Amino acid sequence: MKNDKLLYKIIFQYLKSDSQDMWKQGITLVSVAERTRGMKRENFITESRKTPITDEYDVLVAGGGTAGTIAALAAARNGARTLIIERHGHLGGSMINGAGPLHSFFNLYKAFPETGKIQVVRGIPDELIRRLTQAGGCMGHLEQEIGFEYDSVATIIDWEIYKHVIFNMMQESGVKLMLHTFVTDVIKEENSVKGVIVESKSGREAILAKTVVDCTGDADVAFRSGVECPNTYPDGHVGMPFGMTGVDIPKAAAYLEKQGVIYSMIHADKGSSYDNIVRMGFHLNKLPEFAEYMNKSGLWGPLTLARHENEFSFINTTNIKPLDAVDIHEITRAEIELRAQVMAMAELLRRHVPGFKNGYISWTPVHFGVRRSRIVSCDYDISIDDIVNARRFADEVAVYGFHDCAPRIIIKDGKYYGIPYRALLPKGVENLIVAGRLITSNWEAHMSTRNTVSCMAQGQAAGTAAALAAQNGKSPRDLDTEDLRTVLREQGVFLD
Ligand SMILES: Cc1cc2nc3c(=O)[nH]c(=O)nc-3n(C[C@H](O)[C@H](O)[C@H](O)COP(=O)(O)OP(=O)(O)OC[C@H]3O[C@@H](n4cnc5c(N)ncnc54)[C@H](O)[C@@H]3O)c2cc1C
Repeated sequence: MKNDKLLYKIIFQYLKSDSQDMWKQGITLVSVAERTRGMKRENFITESRKTPITDEYDVLVAGGGTAGTIAALAAARNGARTLIIERHGHLGGSMINGAGPLHSFFNLYKAFPETGKIQVVRGIPDELIRRLTQAGGCMGHLEQEIGFEYDSVATIIDWEIYKHVIFNMMQESGVKLMLHTFVTDVIKEENSVKGVIVESKSGREAILAKTVVDCTGDADVAFRSGVECPNTYPDGHVGMPFGMTGVDIPKAAAYLEKQGVIYSMIHADKGSSYDNIVRMGFHLNKLPEFAEYMNKSGLWGPLTLARHENEFSFINTTNIKPLDAVDIHEITRAEIELRAQVMAMAELLRRHVPGFKNGYISWTPVHFGVRRSRIVSCDYDISIDDIVNARRFADEVAVYGFHDCAPRIIIKDGKYYGIPYRALLPKGVENLIVAGRLITSNWEAHMSTRNTVSCMAQGQAAGTAAALAAQNGKSPRDLDTEDLRTVLREQGVFLD
């Protein structure tokens, strides 16, 4: 109890102060990032070592997250001997460690009924949802009741069931997994990628591949291959969602409704006799007890998911000043500062929102969430004009119909745009394809392409292309895009 009081004192000191001041005062820690910045970078050690080549694959997927898992399944199902390498002990990446509902398998049909309802992402991502639904890990695509000018549906998945189902799918498709393994470098001959260097408990290994797919989110492979990967830090590009259990959700909803702050809502049967709220968004900054803290820190929301009775599975309401999400000292600082915000927000909710009184934090992600870091310079860069004008491309390998800033930024008439194959091909390097949040340099355009369902659709295209390239002894850049699109269509991808 005494320790709790001390903790809250520190947290509320943090709330009141500018976080930079807190670092300077050294209340909790010395700012490591500040210290190392001053280190002289011209000091080096020289290493000479032999690294064993331990295996060789047709397709190697770096990063087993949202895009990478789908890429690996697509590659293996197209006959490639496929390896996926993931730094954590489970697959799924940000999709189960940051994202809430999966945005979006559909166009914005509820806001544009004249355009009609179109499921724009199908193929393997759709199969994943079916498998999760069969396993009790998804309630399908639920229609928004309030807030459908943002997204027509919310597709909500159970992350623990996902972790199990996706392993089964990998096994059935014959994908080889390397978990707890970090891709640290790239093997290159002239301008061709030939494989990667990995490090794990087993040590350092070289693994060769005919085609490499970079799905690391941070473009670790493309960057180390020498591709230009600008890294900019827009506000709101990192965050740490969290879960709270022991919450009387209907009671909280009744209070928030009375205050007039609810902006998103979905009800569904989640097996409870009194609680059927599965999605709720509320403007906490409109409540006087939260306004000062939220306005000062630039926090918004929260948007929540409630998969189970009494459980707010996902509360998305932390923010930090823009930082370099691929600088290890900044990463360390973010973990500490964002965790303090999680503690503070949970305490504010307990104190001021009826229903939260007995709530406790039940979940935080394995890694704080990064919306954007390095962006790979590709043969084509999708622009915001392409997106809002629903532009279609002769070489498109996926289509997508959601924008995270809707209705402020909206795709014309609730339609959808194409993702050209060229947008997945890094400039100036061969045998490498990329997919996920690491494409699209313009921030407003990125606010569409980076979303989970887009990343999955890109993943299927990238994995299929990688397999075809490996089989035909070609670099992905030399593939016939019509052949690729034919295979994708045959395998359920919607390109109409
Ligand atoms: C706070 C937050 C909220 C969000 N909310 C939503 C939402 O509600 N709906 C939505 O659709 N999208 C949302 N997003 C966006 C979405 O989650 C991501 O953009 C998307 O999941 C990224 O997919 P990805 O495959 O590119 O990367 P990830 O899914 O992050 O996959 C990258 C994988 O690579 C692994 N990896 C990284 N580097 C290495 C390495 N060197 N070696 C080995 N493995 C490595 C990682 O561990 C990870 O598993 C949110 C993002 C954040 C941060």
